[in-house]
Amino acid sequence: MKHAGGSPYPLDSYYTATAPLPEERPALTGALDVDVAIIGGGYTGLSAALHLAKAGKTVVVLEANRVGWGASGRNGGQIHSGQRQEPEWFEARYNRAMSQRFFKMGEDAKQLVHSLIQHYKIDCDLKPGVIQAVHKQRYVTDFQDQVALLNDHYDHPVSWLDQEETANRLGTNAYFGAIFDPTAGHLHPLKFALGLAEAALSEGAAIYENTPVQEISDWNNPTLTTPGGTVRADKVLVCGNGYVGGLIPKVDARVMPINNFIAATRPLTEAENPLPGDECASDSRFVVNYWRMSADKRLLFGGGENYSSKFPKNIEAFVRKPLLEIYPQFKDVEIEYAWGGTLAVTVHRVPFIQKLNDHVFAAAGFSGQGVTLAPMAGQILAEAALGQPERLKLYADLPLPPFPGGSLLRSTTLALAMGWYALRDRI
Ligand SMILES: Cc1cc2nc3c(=O)[nH]c(=O)nc-3n(C[C@H](O)[C@H](O)[C@H](O)COP(=O)(O)OP(=O)(O)OC[C@H]3O[C@@H](n4cnc5c(N)ncnc54)[C@H](O)[C@@H]3O)c2cc1C
Repeated sequence: MKHAGGSPYPLDSYYTATAPLPEERPALTGALDVDVAIIGGGYTGLSAALHLAKAGKTVVVLEANRVGWGASGRNGGQIHSGQRQEPEWFEARYNRAMSQRFFKMGEDAKQLVHSLIQHYKIDCDLKPGVIQAVHKQRYVTDFQDQVALLNDHYDHPVSWLDQEETANRLGTNAYFGAIFDPTAGHLHPLKFALGLAEAALSEGAAIYENTPVQEISDWNNPTLTTPGGTVRADKVLVCGNGYVGGLIPKVDARVMPINNFIAATRPLTEAENPLPGDECASDSRFVVNYWRMSADKRLLFGGGENYSSKFPKNIEAFVRKPLLEIYPQFKDVEIEYAWGGTLAVTVHRVPFIQKLNDHVFAAAGFSGQGVTLAPMAGQILAEAALGQPERLKLYADLPLPPFPGGSLLRSTTLALAMGWYALRDRI
């Protein structure tokens, strides 16, 4: 059986240690007949469930492990603006109006995160401010141009921080300047996911944990098979992102799982805290570093990724390496948690949000921006299942090539390509 499921929350994660973990919800037994069945209980699936239940549909979420067990409960918690792909890319490939439309959808996605937190009173340590730091002098002009572009044409109030101001705000001399985005921010990702699950339940959705979907049979009248039962549904939403491999070849060929890693130090003293403004930060490296302070003043630092089915044996040592390049003063600081998770990327970093036939829809490949984009993707899938596919079509109409080598060779080709880009970061 490919999806054995049933894994508990990762014990080495700071998030598991600090979130109010609910009792396990029962696994599915018997046969159900519903309007919509959702595969995966992360931000995408839970948001879809919430919106559909609110619209009066009978909805079940089938989660192989626990809700928020995947990337949604393990990530860096950074809420970014716009799309993962830069406006310059959309402008060059399409035109400014198209680029503005996608940017606006990203802004709507950010607004959705805020309104879900507010409406359902989700306590998840939400804080404002993202600083995106530039690690090469030769990138500075491009980033300054982006500040001007966003202010002048996207109504987006970001500002440029010079080298000195960047050093003051980030507590390191490693950068040549930065973009400050006061409208973006950060949160405790597992608390947010658990809050979304409660919200979906409160709207009438049902959630089954430890319930891996092993097969979707007859796509024109879909039935999902799980170890203990079956679900027949008019619509099926596939929301398994980096963990769903093996279920749908079209998704596998276009969405590539990548592992990424985070370490949490012991709580730092006021004098040690490198981020006096409590913003979160990320940098311009291809294999991005990202960091922020937790509510209890630990440095949560994400850095390093791999493309295999296995995590490094010593994640703490793996992450400490990039951490020390930015903060050498933390050479001996205790790291109390170190964990990894699997996200998913597409070739051009624009999410895969598509109708696969009249009954089956999928969203995945948020390429490192799923804290903002995945809840909206769930909402877009819900709209499509309700017969309003306009926003889905905007994404689905962008050509999305498969990874070279298809799902069999994609990790080898990607590892080679990623290695090359990571090397370019260093020269
Ligand atoms: C270490 C790390 C750091 C990150 N940092 C950031 C960040 O700072 N900002 C940001 O925007 N994004 C970040 N991301 C990405 C972000 O976490 C994801 O894009 C987002 O959580 C995707 O949500 P999802 O619901 O689509 O997928 P997931 O949260 O991965 O949920 C998918 C769920 O589907 C379940 N599933 C899979 N297959 C099946 C099946 N067959 N049957 C039943 N269930 C199944 C899995 O068990 C899983 O729980 C990061 C990711 C990682 C791993």
